[in-house]
Amino acid sequence: MKPTESTSEKSALLLIYTGGTIGMKEDPVIQALKPFNFSQILEEVPELGKFAYRIDTYTFDPLIDSSDIEPNLWLSLAGLIEEKYDEYDGFVILHGTDTMAYSASALSFMIEGLTKPVIFTGSQLPIGTPRTDGKENLISSVEIAAAKDTEGHAIVPEVCIYFDNVLMRGNRASKINSDNFRAFRSPNFPPLAEAGIHIRYNSGLIRRPAVWDARPVFHKSLDTRVSILKMHPGITPQIVRTILCGNDTRAVIIETYGAGNAPSKEWFISIVREASAIGKILLNVTQCMAGSVNMDIYATGKCLKEAGVVNGYDSTTESALGKLFHLLGQHTSSESVKTGLECDLRGEISK
Ligand code: ASP
Repeated sequence: MKPTESTSEKSALLLIYTGGTIGMKEDPVIQALKPFNFSQILEEVPELGKFAYRIDTYTFDPLIDSSDIEPNLWLSLAGLIEEKYDEYDGFVILHGTDTMAYSASALSFMIEGLTKPVIFTGSQLPIGTPRTDGKENLISSVEIAAAKDTEGHAIVPEVCIYFDNVLMRGNRASKINSDNFRAFRSPNFPPLAEAGIHIRYNSGLIRRPAVWDARPVFHKSLDTRVSILKMHPGITPQIVRTILCGNDTRAVIIETYGAGNAPSKEWFISIVREASAIGKILLNVTQCMAGSVNMDIYATGKCLKEAGVVNGYDSTTESALGKLFHLLGQHTSSESVKTGLECDLRGEISK
């Protein structure tokens, strides 16, 4: 892990490289993309030198494809931002796209009372290739991370994902395309900013801290005993029971149909009741790309509510996972976790 520094003026930013396509190149031996040394990214983007910002870099070692991300990396990222918080005006995290929405969601819950931007970005094509989307993503992310209002406060003091001209709240975004430059969408919440000739901020939507001069609270206790049950026609009682009642989980995200519906069959509802009765926290999130859970519309949803299933509203699955890891890490009591799930902690749900 090697910090590097460049000349200082105006805003100071920390550019953190974790790995991902943006900094990968073809390994001729295995004929596949592999991460390369981060210093080469700055060589590839001399435009960054035109900003009057001080941009320091921090490279994780080893660099990883984001499919290998584990919550330990989130703890390292939160720890690094905590350690460097007073030295920088903003943070840009270069990260693989595959799990970027999970990491941005988790970080959003781990940092409470953020007063500075934490912008995740990456690319679909490596930064050294002629048609790369990485340069624009990186340059605009740097500009957004450095942007301040007339009072000197960060314009976007949130954990965000910037991709293909759109700035999204991190815990509202999902990767929706594996080969288009528009790889991310935030279907249930409008963009925080859009970049054209100018970067236009949707100021009314951007969250601001209650107080600007307090340091955020960094929550670095995560409990990962969470599983995800995706409903599908043909699912069997054995599979549902194994996931909902398994000894290794405290909570299960149930990805339901439509507005939060699941089979009305007696065996299914009775396993849900059984799981609830043994203290499992069950969170209802829709598998639809957009829209919200409402367990009062259909009988199939009402049964879940009566069995103690918690409403995930319009949460993404990525956000629900990060929120559960965070809340389970904070509370031993299931009731406290359920109370937290019902609250909009970081702008992740609309109620
Ligand atoms: N597999 C890569 C990763 O997530 C894909 C990318 O960066 O876009 O690390």
